[in-house]
Amino acid sequence: MDKTLISLLKTQAFIDGAWVGEPRMVVTDKATGEEIARVPEMGAAETNAAIAAAHRAFPAWSKLLAKERAKILRRWYELIVEHADELALLLTKEQGKPLPEAKGEILYGAAFVELFAEEAKRVYGETIPTHKQDARVVIMKQPIGVVGAITPWNFPSAMITRKVSPALAVGCTVVVKPAEDTPLSALALAELAQRAGVPKGVLNIVTAKDPVPVGRALTESPLVRMITFTGSTEVGKILMEQAARTVKRVGMELGGNAPFIVFDDADLDRAVAGAIASKFRNAGQTCVCANRILVQDGVYDAFAEKLTAEVKKLKVGAGVETGVTVGPLINTAALKKVEEHVADAVAHGAKVVTGGKPSPLGGTYYEPTVLTEVTSKMKVSREETFGPVAPLFRFKTEEEAVRMANDTPFGLAAYFFTRDLGRCWRVAEALEYGIVGVNEGITSTEIAPFGGVKESGIGREGSHHGIEEFLETKYALMGGL
Ligand code: ADP
Repeated sequence: MDKTLISLLKTQAFIDGAWVGEPRMVVTDKATGEEIARVPEMGAAETNAAIAAAHRAFPAWSKLLAKERAKILRRWYELIVEHADELALLLTKEQGKPLPEAKGEILYGAAFVELFAEEAKRVYGETIPTHKQDARVVIMKQPIGVVGAITPWNFPSAMITRKVSPALAVGCTVVVKPAEDTPLSALALAELAQRAGVPKGVLNIVTAKDPVPVGRALTESPLVRMITFTGSTEVGKILMEQAARTVKRVGMELGGNAPFIVFDDADLDRAVAGAIASKFRNAGQTCVCANRILVQDGVYDAFAEKLTAEVKKLKVGAGVETGVTVGPLINTAALKKVEEHVADAVAHGAKVVTGGKPSPLGGTYYEPTVLTEVTSKMKVSREETFGPVAPLFRFKTEEEAVRMANDTPFGLAAYFFTRDLGRCWRVAEALEYGIVGVNEGITSTEIAPFGGVKESGIGREGSHHGIEEFLETKYALMGGL
């Protein structure tokens, strides 16, 4: 890759303020399969070195005035925005999403840094009316300590800033392990953090091909006080089990199986636009992407027709090409899963209205797909497809829709479209989900709490709720007054 274009292309890991390790693991351009760069394959020893560095950096960083940390974070935010085009290009190359979407992610990710730079100054304690004449009850908020963060490939930049910036804002120090498919965005963020004045050891990035030893080192070290993870429910459970041995706090943003409900009284054009945005963003590879589209009987055919017309307008191709709206899938395993889900649905009676096969472009490209007559017998109803496939289920009543929507162990995001005000409230309250989009297909913003219920996770990221996750509550009884 042209290095003058990407001055933020780093090929070493970042530990204790130094770029270290021998570049070995190949990071590919997901559109072409070509090598972009190599990064180190680190293990337990390097992770422990990063943890030790974070632990050494913690006292000084946590003792800075909030205003001083805020200033450094603000500078980091400004640098990310200044380099947004460069970061977006790097992200598109290593991840595959179309360039405008990548730029959107960079700015969305930067917004967390901006927000938490501001929130750093608003971490308030409290005093509680005393229970003893000669004592006062004081509550302090303190940073939890060293944080281990493990992040996924579908948002290689924003998932890092969403975790790291609130942690740094309150005085925590962090060791990040980015996903093996997309380590370059993480390293570029670290470079900018260093330029912004984040002191050595405060932010460390450990790259690895095999995540297991790194995960073990992070979860087993008594110096690490919290594990924050975004990824699959399966891996989240492993990390929770491992973290239990040292009773660490955990923040878990796990898988979803988002229902997208279209009622008879919905504004159909709005519902179609919402479904396109929710389903096909990032080629369907987000944990809040609509996974099951539930459509009421009366509008089923009309919705299917309108949706199909819009899906046919989507353009598949390399993310750097103008006009492309659906990029490649992350790897061949992802492509295989999508093929398997569609084959299973068809075998059980679903109809392919458009798409339904890999794109003639080859590689990991898959055609945007609409399936009708989908039922709960099919895999697409139970598992996240994580691809550009819109399966349309049919329902008759509101009760049935809510029951179908909640019939899953997951509970991250749900969406529904209706113009009935009473139904808006009833259904929003009845859905067992952490996030509900009412007549909206995209809900993500730094100012609102993001997170799931049931097997979709623990804790919230973003907003003032997101900063609480990194704080301990200390009660001091000031006696003998
Ligand atoms: P996905 O299915 O989205 O790839 P994963 O849960 O497999 O999600 O991956 C999310 C992150 O978790 C990645 O950074 C990956 O390297 C890491 N990871 C996967 N398995 C483990 C593990 N056993 N221990 C620690 N981290 C892991």
